[in-house]
Amino acid sequence: MKVGIIGAAGRMGRILIEATLANPQTTLAAAVDVPGSSLIGADAGELVGQGGQGVFLVDDLGKVVNDADVFIDFTVPQATVANVDICRAAGTKLVIGTTGLNDEQKAALREAAGDIAICFAPNYSIGVNLCFKLLETAARVMGEDADIEVIEAHHRHKIDAPSGTALRLGEVVAQTLGRDLKDCAVYGREGQTGARDRKTIGFETIRGGDIVGDHTVLFAADGERVEITHKASSRMAFGRGAVHAAAWLADHDKGLFDMQDVLGLAGDSAGWGKG
Ligand code: NAD
Repeated sequence: MKVGIIGAAGRMGRILIEATLANPQTTLAAAVDVPGSSLIGADAGELVGQGGQGVFLVDDLGKVVNDADVFIDFTVPQATVANVDICRAAGTKLVIGTTGLNDEQKAALREAAGDIAICFAPNYSIGVNLCFKLLETAARVMGEDADIEVIEAHHRHKIDAPSGTALRLGEVVAQTLGRDLKDCAVYGREGQTGARDRKTIGFETIRGGDIVGDHTVLFAADGERVEITHKASSRMAFGRGAVHAAAWLADHDKGLFDMQDVLGLAGDSAGWGKG
């Protein structure tokens, strides 16, 4: 698969260049970032110490949209939605890792997936996707008798909260318990909060330093607690997964998929983030 990277100069963009070059199923075909970036025109391979790839950073997806079979987009929500339109018009597939999209922006993705194949996941690591499955069991067994809290920590540069992964963890629990996350989520606590309502799912956010991404779902019952925890120690965990998803899209012409589909974990629970 010929792969293009959007947001190529970013923290994840550089990892994605490296992961694309390392995967035997993919070749690096294009790299895009914002107009005005000092890196426009640079050799994309040079950004990861592997120069001479002959792929140069451009500031307009429209110029290169036909150069790749699939683009991987880890940018910001407004950019992602605009990129979806460009890829849809060109018939080019997309893997999207951007988080923080609102309902309207997610609806735009779903609509575009009627024409092109899109993989959209808040977390492309294998470990977190395994945790989504473990959580279904934990929620089924303990969910009604435990207070459930989702705790996440990320580096100081992250611009959205709670993380897309934390929200998805909450969605998995809520859906398994037949609750709507929109009605039962409580974000942070302060002051005279009153006693905790067992039907709620709490979210706590920590931001600091260079934390790549930690997530814990806590089930606190009377007399015992269960914690399901994932800790990412390298962004390559996400990069490898996203490039794997890009290669997986070779067999799909249209439709909205997530990493559960790519890993064959979807089963009955496919569609947590698609609704
Ligand atoms: P970053 O700020 O380091 O990089 C974002 C890059 O996108 C920057 O280089 C920026 O210039 C570029 N960009 C912005 N608008 C653009 C546009 N219109 N066209 C082209 N490029 C544009 O951020 P990051 O840490 O790399 O994270 C990027 C996104 O990926 C965030 O939403 C983050 O939450 C998400 N993320 C997802 C996963 C996952 O597994 N799904 C993992 C890590 C990060």
